[in-house]
Amino acid sequence: MKDSKKIKWRGEIISIQPRTTVWRYVIDNRTHSHIGYNLFVDGEADLECKTYSVAISEKQQQKHMFCIGDKVEGTAWTKINEVTDYADYYRAGGFKIIEHAEQLIKDVPPPYRMTPPDMATYEWRGARMLAKTCWKGKCFQCVWATMAAVEIEYNWGVSRKYRFESFCYGPKSCRFYKMGKPRAVPYKDRGTSYDEGWLDEIISENRGFDD
Ligand code: SF4
Repeated sequence: MKDSKKIKWRGEIISIQPRTTVWRYVIDNRTHSHIGYNLFVDGEADLECKTYSVAISEKQQQKHMFCIGDKVEGTAWTKINEVTDYADYYRAGGFKIIEHAEQLIKDVPPPYRMTPPDMATYEWRGARMLAKTCWKGKCFQCVWATMAAVEIEYNWGVSRKYRFESFCYGPKSCRFYKMGKPRAVPYKDRGTSYDEGWLDEIISENRGFDD
């Protein structure tokens, strides 16, 4: 754990994705939680020029209706724990929209660069594993992409492992979609199981191929 300090940030929003966590237990359980949004910003933070991410709440997004291309400034706090959340900065506030994007992006999707839906929509849709190369590349600006903070129950009630994993909540028919390699889920003294994709089918069973 590190000390946290309050910083100022400003820049242009280049992506907005849901802020999510996942709890894994062998391959029987993969539980996704939807806790807000991550704004990916190109600009300055803590007196440095860089690209960074700022965690905001669902209420903050509903109030400000941030979208890609908005130029924004605010305050936030540096990360205390490197593994339990993906964003670089938390407890954001003091938002000021310096300049709204001229218009919502009207490109034909994918990627889906629209105003992101609410948390209940992500919850209902359910996520499928998304190759990290897709998340970093063609999918980065898509509202259906997420980089989740994953907690693996490694020794029940005693120890856990942590990592980040990319997922997609978008249409199953999306031509950009690639699952990537099966994901290892270790458990103490039992070796490693692999999440090969059948949990994706269960978790996203509410929707059809084109939803
Ligand atoms: S694969 Fe998923 S995250 Fe990527 S563009 Fe398609 S819907 Fe969006």
